Amino acid sequence: MKITRIKGIGPKKEERLAVLGIREVEDLLYFFPRAYEDRRKITAINDLKESQWAVVQGKVVKIIGGNPQRRSQTLRLVVENQGGRMEMVFFHGRYAAREINPGQVYYFYGRPQRHRGVWEMIHPDFSTHADFLQIVPLYPLTRGLSQKELRRWQKEAQRQFGIPEEYLPPDILEKRQLLPLGETLKAIHFPSNPLHWKQAKNRILYEDLFLFQLGTRGMRRSQGKGIAFEKKGEDALIRSLPFSLTDAQGKVAQEVMADMESHDSMNRLIQGDVGSGKTVIAALALYKAAINGYQGAMMVPTEILLRQHKETLSEQLEPLGLVVECLSGSMKAKEKKEILERLKQGHIHILIGTHALIEKQVDFHRLGLVITDEQHRFGVQQRAYLSQKGERPDILVMTATPIPRTLARVLYKETDLSVIDQRPPGRKPIKTKAVWSKNRKKAYEFANQQMEQGRQVYVVTPLIAPSEPLELQSAEELYKELKRKFPQRRIGLVHGAMTSPEKSRVMEAFAVNEIEMLVSTVVIEVGIDVPNATVMIIENAERFGLAQLHQLRGRVGRGKEESYCLLISAFEGKPARERAKTLVESNDGFVIAERDLTLRGPGEFFGYRQHGIPDERWIAMVSHPREMEMAREDVEALLQGMKETKDSLPLPLQRRLKGYFDGNLLD
Ligand code: ADP
Ligand code: MG
Repeated sequence: MKITRIKGIGPKKEERLAVLGIREVEDLLYFFPRAYEDRRKITAINDLKESQWAVVQGKVVKIIGGNPQRRSQTLRLVVENQGGRMEMVFFHGRYAAREINPGQVYYFYGRPQRHRGVWEMIHPDFSTHADFLQIVPLYPLTRGLSQKELRRWQKEAQRQFGIPEEYLPPDILEKRQLLPLGETLKAIHFPSNPLHWKQAKNRILYEDLFLFQLGTRGMRRSQGKGIAFEKKGEDALIRSLPFSLTDAQGKVAQEVMADMESHDSMNRLIQGDVGSGKTVIAALALYKAAINGYQGAMMVPTEILLRQHKETLSEQLEPLGLVVECLSGSMKAKEKKEILERLKQGHIHILIGTHALIEKQVDFHRLGLVITDEQHRFGVQQRAYLSQKGERPDILVMTATPIPRTLARVLYKETDLSVIDQRPPGRKPIKTKAVWSKNRKKAYEFANQQMEQGRQVYVVTPLIAPSEPLELQSAEELYKELKRKFPQRRIGLVHGAMTSPEKSRVMEAFAVNEIEMLVSTVVIEVGIDVPNATVMIIENAERFGLAQLHQLRGRVGRGKEESYCLLISAFEGKPARERAKTLVESNDGFVIAERDLTLRGPGEFFGYRQHGIPDERWIAMVSHPREMEMAREDVEALLQGMKETKDSLPLPLQRRLKGYFDGNLLD
């Protein structure tokens, strides 16, 4: 049901809500608060503590300023209660002046600060109504939306449409003592007390674990016989490489070779930090498949990566007599047709592609190996489609996302795990610095010096266009600003709203140093390899997760030169500083992932639902291994039961599952 069905939401608000991913009424109900304000307790003015948010009840005894004719004037209210006296301050206070009557008693909610010996609150929320004294939700916002509106619409949605149908099976609800869906959603948005909220939170956590495992069950190994590749001169490739494998690569290569040689089908996940050298393992596996008379497919998430892998693999494998081709959605029909024809005839040994690989008309002659790179961009489903194009091909999944062991064991229960925990030799650790926003000029001056010396620079910013909260730098604005500031430099821009060919063109120009400084959104996050780039500047670093920052940083430090990562932020608050410190001190993705976990703490699991970032979802899950195990048991029991009765999943559950994974990286 469209969100505009809710009273008070018109086309303008609809557009704003879409920025938050809210399009349907159901999206709104599942749009959870990031925090709450507990306004149930009133604090006497004399008991206030510095910077501790509080509700004060008091009588307005004096109004200073706030002249309705003068827009910019500051309004001060002198408020008294139980022998205490304080001031409420409203800059540009005209609006507040209209609502406040002298002599009346109000509730104020704000952060008290001592100023010249008097307590003040700046811009407190206020009301005369007793229903002010509740626990109120704080939603993640974007420009043009207010907390008040979101709260009102949440209430309105529940009033107008009620609550969606319960989809968890009743026996599970009972066995796990979970709150029903209706009560859960009520308590998440408007908890009456912390216990109520905690019960709701438990249900949501369980639901996450349950849906997640139900949705990813296809990741489990399809038991049974697969291809037993023969041991045949893989060393030829290893010998032809311009470097020797690291010990870690050697060990993982052994594991992969052994899997491929065994009669069981391979189902292996390779984890390796950015730059650890996963691609060469893929090359080895593809080579082995090819010399055994099979074809290999490698699926990558972006066109940029596609080109890069095509180049690397062609370089390594074509001299050994293999034919490597690629397939993407942006190819010309004629070109595509020709490749598909040759693929079917078996003239192509290795096909690298984007999602285009899973299209119906892609028909292999004899597919024996399926590799997906940067796994979390693909759905399990898509991987399965690709595998079905062969007869039980071996499967290799590569990821740079550090998945803590405890979680990997549950998630990839029947997948074997290899870890490349070592970097190629000669890499210097990347020097990371936290740069205060007010010093950002210096960061760019430094980048300019590096460009003077022939190096290249990435600049990453969270937004494409200046649409979201105003204070953030958007890529487009930043690009213009930098072009003005450094007219002598060749600067490029790449962002997620560009078409694939456009993106590829820019990336290629960067790869050959036609562009010296590349301004981008996170589209560059995965995989690209430009060894001459030595500086990574990240604007509004606080907007990124630690793991994501680490991935971004991994774009530099790929060559011989010293590399730098500059995190620009205002670093407001201790957590922000702690996060920055983690990155400054460590270059190890696994350490960072674990640190991320402890910094957020298991209590904070709401934020991630809005972003659908699997890293964060994993973090929530890994901190609840016991609950995860319960949900897994329940999923299995449910599937087992269905198998016996030959029923399919109940409709409400199917629907919820779809909503849960929709628009999500995982499926
Ligand atoms: P990732 O694990 O991030 O996919 P890549 O496979 O792209 O890493 O490797 C990063 C870079 O390191 C590439 O330029 C690759 O050629 C190089 N490389 C990989 N293995 C080695 C090695 N053993 N010695 C030296 N360089 C290597
Ligand atoms: Mg890679």
